[in-house]
Amino acid sequence: MAFPGVSPSRIINFMAHRSQKIALRTNNRHEQWFRSQCGYARFAYNNALSDFKAGLEVDTFRSKVDLNNRWNKRKKVYEWVKAQDQRAGLYAIDNLGKAIKNWVAKRSKFPKFKKRGHKLSYTTDEQSVKVEGKRIKLPKIGWVGMFQELRFEGEITRVSISRTGKRWFVSMTVETGTPNTPRETRGLPVVGIDVGINSLATLDNSKQYPNPRPLKRYERKLKREQRRMSKKVFLSNNWYKQKDKVAKLHYRIACIRNDVHHKATTEIVNSASVIGIETLKITNMLKNKKLAKALSDSALGGFLSKLKSKAEVLGIPIIQAPQFYASSKTCSHCGDKKDELSLSERTYHCNGCGASIDRDVNAAINLKAIAVGQAEM
Ligand SMILES: [Zn+2]
Repeated sequence: MAFPGVSPSRIINFMAHRSQKIALRTNNRHEQWFRSQCGYARFAYNNALSDFKAGLEVDTFRSKVDLNNRWNKRKKVYEWVKAQDQRAGLYAIDNLGKAIKNWVAKRSKFPKFKKRGHKLSYTTDEQSVKVEGKRIKLPKIGWVGMFQELRFEGEITRVSISRTGKRWFVSMTVETGTPNTPRETRGLPVVGIDVGINSLATLDNSKQYPNPRPLKRYERKLKREQRRMSKKVFLSNNWYKQKDKVAKLHYRIACIRNDVHHKATTEIVNSASVIGIETLKITNMLKNKKLAKALSDSALGGFLSKLKSKAEVLGIPIIQAPQFYASSKTCSHCGDKKDELSLSERTYHCNGCGASIDRDVNAAINLKAIAVGQAEM
């Protein structure tokens, strides 16, 4: 099948980096330690930022090295700093360095001070971390239990601790160094997938995975709890309690979504030899206000990234159609292309050959065909 106007598509490269986020089994001592390290990281960041602001006039503190050297001198003034995880502060300053660099390059706005009560996280020294089964040894605090084992073997290149809902998590990035061993895929078909809001994923064989849209289900409850939070005294005990409630709801929403995404992606990668997908222009789609909410609720980006990482582990190539390829507007039977196809038209009626086919299935078949063409090149 020929595709006029289709230039060679991009095949996603396989990398040997793996990340995993694992819930921690914490007691009060751990919890207090994590909180104070997050506070320390915030303190280091804000302290460096205020000096950077002051130094702007005299043109100093331009590089990361400057920021680090400054912090090493500066922190001696604060007695309590000695007892902290030094890396937490250095990584925070490292992040500030990056933020400043982005600001200088006009890629982002001027960095802001980090406020209390916001996202709690810090990065620690990956080289002094040890992992044994379901436990991890962290600098200064020692062994902490984990709910799962680390799935990957290799050098740990980044370790962050963060809080989501009521739980603390460790996120680890591992450089496995070993190339992926491709799974035996003979006999399995090439699969085209159309992702969207109406149905999360539609395959070329007409199989559909419905979209859970959990935010829609919890929207009213979430709004109510958020309103309650705004009425509490900022940073008071009741405010923190309410904040936990809101975070717990967010966490539940994320869990529902993740669960559906994991089940669908596992099933898809287990039944395909090559996968064809489109290149989503999510930022463009977000400009449409009506679509934006439904779009962020379905978290298509998260779905695709899970699909990619699972395919990568199994050595299944993912072939992305070129960015401007109109998978929805093109007829999968004859290649005829419509100029317009509104989102409400659920069935594709072709003016060229008269075919009538489900809109998403039509797109999935087109994506499959591109994947087939690419895979044979
Ligand atoms: Zn047609």
